[in-house]
Amino acid sequence: MNEYSPPAPSPVMAQYLEIKEANPGCLLFFRMGDFFELFFDDAVAAAQALDIALTKRGRHEGADIPMCGVPVHTAETYLARLIRAGFKVAICDQIEDPAEARRRGGKGPVRRAVTRVVTAGTLTEEGLLDARRHNYLAGIAEAGGEIGLAWLDLSTGAFALMPTSEPCLAGDLARLTPGEILLPERLLTRPALFELLAEWKPVLTPLPNPRFESEAARRRLQEFYGVGALDGFGGFGRAELAAAGALVDYVGLTQQGRAPHLQPPRQVMPASVMQIDAATRRNLELMATLAGERKRSLVATIDRTVTAAGARLLADYLAAPLTEPATIAARLDAVEFFVDRPELREVLRERLKRCPDIERGLTRLGLGRGGPRDLAALSQSLGETAALRDMLVQPGLVPLPERLAAAQQGLGEHGALVERLGRALDAELPLFARDGGFIAAGYSGELDEWRGLRDESRRMIAALQARYAGESAIGALKIRHNNVIGYYIEVSANHAGKLGPEFIHRQTMAGAQRYTTAELADLETKIASAAERALALELRLYEDLVGEVMARRAEIAAAAEALATLDLAAALAELAAEALWVRPVIEESTTFEIAGGRHPMVEAALTGEGKGGSFVANDCALAEDRIWLLTGPNMAGKSTFLRQNALIAILAQMGSYVPAHSARIGIVDRLFSRVGAADDLARGRSTFMVEMVETAAILNQAGPRSFVILDEIGRGTATFDGLSIAWATLEHLHEVNRCRTLFATHYHELTSLAAKLPALACHTMRVKEWKGDVVFLHEVGPGTADRSYGIHVAKLAGLPKNVTARAEEVLSVLEKGEQGGALARLADDLPLFSAARRRAQPPPAESPAEVLLRGTHPDELTPREALDLIYRLKALAPE
Ligand code: ADP
Repeated sequence: MNEYSPPAPSPVMAQYLEIKEANPGCLLFFRMGDFFELFFDDAVAAAQALDIALTKRGRHEGADIPMCGVPVHTAETYLARLIRAGFKVAICDQIEDPAEARRRGGKGPVRRAVTRVVTAGTLTEEGLLDARRHNYLAGIAEAGGEIGLAWLDLSTGAFALMPTSEPCLAGDLARLTPGEILLPERLLTRPALFELLAEWKPVLTPLPNPRFESEAARRRLQEFYGVGALDGFGGFGRAELAAAGALVDYVGLTQQGRAPHLQPPRQVMPASVMQIDAATRRNLELMATLAGERKRSLVATIDRTVTAAGARLLADYLAAPLTEPATIAARLDAVEFFVDRPELREVLRERLKRCPDIERGLTRLGLGRGGPRDLAALSQSLGETAALRDMLVQPGLVPLPERLAAAQQGLGEHGALVERLGRALDAELPLFARDGGFIAAGYSGELDEWRGLRDESRRMIAALQARYAGESAIGALKIRHNNVIGYYIEVSANHAGKLGPEFIHRQTMAGAQRYTTAELADLETKIASAAERALALELRLYEDLVGEVMARRAEIAAAAEALATLDLAAALAELAAEALWVRPVIEESTTFEIAGGRHPMVEAALTGEGKGGSFVANDCALAEDRIWLLTGPNMAGKSTFLRQNALIAILAQMGSYVPAHSARIGIVDRLFSRVGAADDLARGRSTFMVEMVETAAILNQAGPRSFVILDEIGRGTATFDGLSIAWATLEHLHEVNRCRTLFATHYHELTSLAAKLPALACHTMRVKEWKGDVVFLHEVGPGTADRSYGIHVAKLAGLPKNVTARAEEVLSVLEKGEQGGALARLADDLPLFSAARRRAQPPPAESPAEVLLRGTHPDELTPREALDLIYRLKALAPE
């Protein structure tokens, strides 16, 4: 039986059940006065997720109704937690005033309706979002055998789409890291996507297949943008359209028909961005360290932006480095402009610091979810644009680099709006418009008049209180107000008899009596009507202001984008100047020449405050020699070197300066890494399996413009196995993939391949032996390492001395070759093992006789039992 269709529920419950049924898959936040309440299973789930009390309210079909609730004014915090825990929440508000409902004749409950469905991918509130990252809602669709991907950020209106394919989808999703992914139900069972989707499971929202129909999607998009054809936006494939259409549809659904502002969809061609798979992104710690923290990741290390929108743009750039030299050069020109002008950069950044985020505020206002503070933020930021524009038109600066010229244009002219908002808004602003109190005095004569009346009447109430207190000689007489009975006169119970007949009794409280008088009631009506009119007028004025902002939405969005562009260019320049980075040369070739390259995060960690370390810069030159085979001991800096070159390629192609003395980079179209694998036990893969999966991806996909770093391949298996795999991999990379490769290895045997493979060069991490100790110089030079120094590292790590001494002994035998016989002799003589074994002897187990005796209590034995015991013991003794 359906628990939500009882025979005769109460009217409110009937209303609840109807709304609940219309919003499947969501928790229903049901507005009851000052609370959002949840019932039935929703209540149980939410109480558990929020750790709040589960109570009950009324009965339904003979059972108690579980209930929990959260106060409306703090609902956002609870919402944030529920969304993070993977729930979707339908917000059901009262859409009429309870007073209105009473005027209707009190029939039926207050009207309620779902005003919004909150999901992880459709958030707009500051409190629910990370200011420095985009929160994308992504959609995947399939049509005509092709896969399309679309994504939008509802909070800023950014909207894009691209054609993709099953193999590329993982990398695309890793680039976007969407907060929520919509997809047709049928893709869930697609074997090729099974593993990928399992990884994104917590954020997947499968929807019925027809929602992803491409023709309907085309119509929906045309309707949304009010155009007759979408060709003006780009030539989109059916799959892309289907994905984009599903997004717009879903946004309409979650926003309950309110149309948010979305920029026209921008088509991203897969070839225009560097392809970086999910494992590589993780391994290179682009957005988070391997431990999952933003701190010490690449993005955190290079972020010098001073606005949230600038930080979001940086994250977007870093996630998607470009592949066209001209576009990259245009970004670099903007950075160089600010590198060359430190003073201008400083004043510009000072101005930008005063610009609060307007992108998100604009969307909130558009969705009717904004408040006076969003208007103030707009006024503040737009107010700065004039000064910023002036800064950039100084005669000495023309011609501006292309991107800055565009930004300068984009800043626009907002003087009139800023002036009006400045006049309209008070200095102190409430979060919500609904309670009023945000329009400044002097902005509207009529409003000032109503407020004057309201305040005057309040003063009269204070005077009335003084008069009543005096006349009745009750000093403690008070006139108070509450939302239930309005204004009342309160005296303590023992004074009750002292009041005259004009005092009409209203309420008896514990220890107090409440009254009213005709005079008080009269004043109250005046106050109420003045306050009501003031509030109504204030809300109208607010709507006017919002209307004015919305009328200029496109210009304001352009200004917001311009601010972010300026912030990012200046921030990258700041970084370059501060950390002594250089402008890379990007070209259409397969060169990779870095002089004096450094690893940004390792360098920052070594040279950070109070550390006093220094980072050793290293060159890397891949040209004729496409592959560098790097040998060297553990801890000598091989991984650091590999990663720093990959990071330099990413930084360069996102349009940033790079940590090096000079850099010349032929466009990298795909970046692969196979470094530092860890067990992926959650997916049932051992370290070695992870390593092989990653290696397979590289060998199957890398092409001549790819850049590959491989660290220690084949270590998770037996020596000869591993060596053979590494050997064959190297040959394949050289002969088939023909990509630029840095290959770090322990297998010195591989260096003999250098003679056979012409594009392979051997390099090694230099070490110095000094007074019996080994010093790592962290320098890369030509040649091969003659030793691994593993035992040295083991000593550093604190292995017991007898273990390292014994290891040295074994090593010297192994190094002499003729391993079989020597090893056998070594094994015969096992001083260490036997000593260890002696120490590790387990305590001898108890014999059965001992067990029997222990269970025996002599004082409790009868003579007969004692005799039995002797026989049993005898039976246990070995013959
Ligand atoms: P390997 O991969 O050879 O085992 P790593 O690259 O992990 O070595 O480096 C080990 C440590 O050596 C790093 O954590 C860092 O502290 C230091 N290191 C590496 N490269 C450099 C360098 N170029 N300059 C200074 N210190 C370095």
